[in-house]
Amino acid sequence: MNPAIESMLQNYGVTPETEAFLRDTQRMYIGGEFVGSDERIDVTEPATASRLTSVPAASNADVDRAIGAARRALDAGPWAAMKPAQRERLLLKLADAIEAHAQTLGEIETIDNGKAIGPCIEMDILGAADLLRYMAGFATKLDGATRQVSIPGEHLAWTVRQPIGVVAAIVPWNWPFNMAMWKMAAALAAGCTMVVKPAQQTSLSMLYFARLCEEAGLPAGVINVVTGRGSSIGNYLAGNPGVDKVSFTGSTPVGRMVGEAAGRALSPVTLELGGKSPMVVFDDADPKAVAAATRWSVYFNAGQVCSAGSRLYAHASIYDDVVRELEAMTSAMKIAPGLDPECDMGPVISESALSSIVGYIDKGKAEGAELIYGGNTPDSPGYFVEPTLFAAERNDLTIVQEEIFGPVLTILKFESDDEAIRMANDNIYGLAASIWTRDISRALRYSDQLDAGTVWINNHDIVDSSMPCGGFRQSGFGKDMGPEQLQHFTRTKAVWITL
Ligand code: NAP
Ligand code: MG
Repeated sequence: MNPAIESMLQNYGVTPETEAFLRDTQRMYIGGEFVGSDERIDVTEPATASRLTSVPAASNADVDRAIGAARRALDAGPWAAMKPAQRERLLLKLADAIEAHAQTLGEIETIDNGKAIGPCIEMDILGAADLLRYMAGFATKLDGATRQVSIPGEHLAWTVRQPIGVVAAIVPWNWPFNMAMWKMAAALAAGCTMVVKPAQQTSLSMLYFARLCEEAGLPAGVINVVTGRGSSIGNYLAGNPGVDKVSFTGSTPVGRMVGEAAGRALSPVTLELGGKSPMVVFDDADPKAVAAATRWSVYFNAGQVCSAGSRLYAHASIYDDVVRELEAMTSAMKIAPGLDPECDMGPVISESALSSIVGYIDKGKAEGAELIYGGNTPDSPGYFVEPTLFAAERNDLTIVQEEIFGPVLTILKFESDDEAIRMANDNIYGLAASIWTRDISRALRYSDQLDAGTVWINNHDIVDSSMPCGGFRQSGFGKDMGPEQLQHFTRTKAVWITL
């Protein structure tokens, strides 16, 4: 192991399981077997920018094997024969295994991705266990209906909901474990089998999870994890005729390619894509509450959050107060490796992510936005950038319109409510938005007008297993979580008997 990582692990301390896992040779999980590959991809640890380990670079033949294993598990064997209540119990057992290994899973995720360990265990890992438990209950509730048909003759007619089949899940690096569970929990509850492709930078938590699937007794082939490059095997998987449903979370440009590939194979597809979510702060809002929620939303996970409230519209009468509160809270943040228990913000994922974020900061300055706080990259080998706060006067600036996917917030001033909503909607994305006001009528009127898949009132960036997440417009279509998601993983069959 690289000395920089050795000393980081020594310094902060990790479980013996984490250490043993990181020293192991990483293998994929196909048909219940842990398998290697001829080619491998280096994995970098973002707080030290040093080599952590490597993961297999799957070939198309590996993907075919994984799809084959998923198909066999769907059609025959213990999973296919399982009653819904047994499936529910198995998912609950899997959730227990996640909870029992939460510390290790959290450490692996933090080391691989860079995120702060506290929220990682709480939200990414235990949140995933919660979601699995929530969805497990649906296994026994996927009912069809009998119908009153009116055509001549005597008929009995009803509908049956079946698992849609083999699901391909392609997920991003910002919430590697959690985003994968956003797909797996509902798909497994519905009785599907899966091929999961994590992002090449962050495959480790899924590879560790494969061990937990073994431990919990998930039958071979129900979950397969293939690691490797999205541009090759991700594309091959998305367009594969052996797949019955594609569920993707990632960027809008890649989502478009995944949609095209799935479209050619006529596979239904869910696309959870990028965002540039507005926060609209009316004159009667509480500036402290706004600043606290903004700091959380745009700076946690180093701003690598699809629904980050990265453009804030504040009424002129409250603008200065919001800026002052935000500056105070932002400047007090501790930037540190994610394993540091006091870390508020860790590094970003990679060198190229860092240079893209720095490029946006430079562009913000060049286009005339005022840098209020941050903007620098600390002198450290890791991929760190300060939480950054801009003030801007124009809604058409690049930093206001484009998804930066880093800890950069731009704040703008408005005079009238309608103007604020117009600016908030003037963007290609429609993932999420928030409204801040004590006036209930105003909140309800504008929550209706905001063109976004989620609208929070007096909050931003809260999620729950019961609430569907998913965007409008260039943020994609379909929902993850909530009862709505089960629709994506079941198919409805109509059955008739003529008496
Ligand atoms: P990305 O570059 O689009 O990658 C997402 C996944 O797609 C990765 O596993 C990637 O593999 C794979 N991929 C890349 N090219 C592909 C292709 N041609 N065909 C099939 N798969 C391909 O996104 P990211 O940079 O990891 O994640 C950040 C983006 O995700 C942001 O835009 C963010 O807003 C979005 N996001 C959205 C949500 C939501 O719920 N709406 C949640 C989280 C993140 P490799 O990386 O291994 O190449
Ligand atoms: Mg990594």
